Amino acid sequence: MPDRYAVIGNPVAHSKSPWLHAQFARACAQDIEYMCIEAPLGAFPATLDAFRAAGGRGANVTLPFKQEAFLYCASVSERAREARAVNTLVFDRGEPWGDNTDGVGLLRDLETNLRFELRGRRVLVMGAGGAAQGVVPSLHSAGPAQLVVANRTAGKARALAVRFKGTTGCGYDGLAGDTFDLVVNATSAGLAGELPALPSAQELFAPGALAYDMVYGRDTPFLAYARAAEVRASDGIGMLVEQAAESFLVWRGVRPDTRSVLAALRRG
Ligand code: NAP
Repeated sequence: MPDRYAVIGNPVAHSKSPWLHAQFARACAQDIEYMCIEAPLGAFPATLDAFRAAGGRGANVTLPFKQEAFLYCASVSERAREARAVNTLVFDRGEPWGDNTDGVGLLRDLETNLRFELRGRRVLVMGAGGAAQGVVPSLHSAGPAQLVVANRTAGKARALAVRFKGTTGCGYDGLAGDTFDLVVNATSAGLAGELPALPSAQELFAPGALAYDMVYGRDTPFLAYARAAEVRASDGIGMLVEQAAESFLVWRGVRPDTRSVLAALRRG
């Protein structure tokens, strides 16, 4: 019997995680099965209980349950504690244990795949929802010269930023006059074809800057805004692959090579 894993979310049918983990399992000779489970809103803990009772060894968690997953765990990793959100659950070591691989997934995509060195750079994170919460601790620990969190609801950006020394939070109107080497769009605005109320790209981006949209699988107004200013731009597909590889490592003790999988996804 293969070991059972799943991604749990709502909606979740679109998830690329089953395909990704099937590639990793084949490459690493691991006997696993990995399915999609849509948990009804309000029934996330019951869905997890049922999956564990059916022999589930671990699970990924996606929108909108990452904070609920954090509360479900008996204990969590340091990086999940900092993010206050869990995207990777482990069930086969006693009580449920939680981890968060989003931050390391972004860092690996930036530093290894895109060869963008974070130390000493000026970094802006747009958004203060679950995705921003997941990546701000890792970005902070990478030693940027400046880390700013901006959000439509400015109070949420300030509440997130205050937890990380030297980090500031503001609304988009608070960005006037600031220039960044890296701008990470961790909002869901692109899913609605919208662009947060940013200053002009010429003001926002330093020469040689990178624009990174965590949304993947579509062109977004933020990517178009960056390209129009001739700024290097990347979607979030590499982060998706890298956070999945880190979950696989947590579960199976082996890190899959991500290059061929990422190349296949980029080819479409
Ligand atoms: P979330 O918790 O619902 O937060 C949404 C965020 O987007 C909030 O900060 C919200 O601002 C902002 N927002 C939404 N519409 C906006 C608009 N029209 N203008 C300005 N800001 C807007 O969602 P999430 O979990 O953070 O996810 C955000 C995105 O990241 C999603 O698209 C998700 O697919 C992507 N993501 C990608 C990966 C990856 O591996 N590549 C991993 C995780 C997430 P307010 O607070 O003001 O409402």
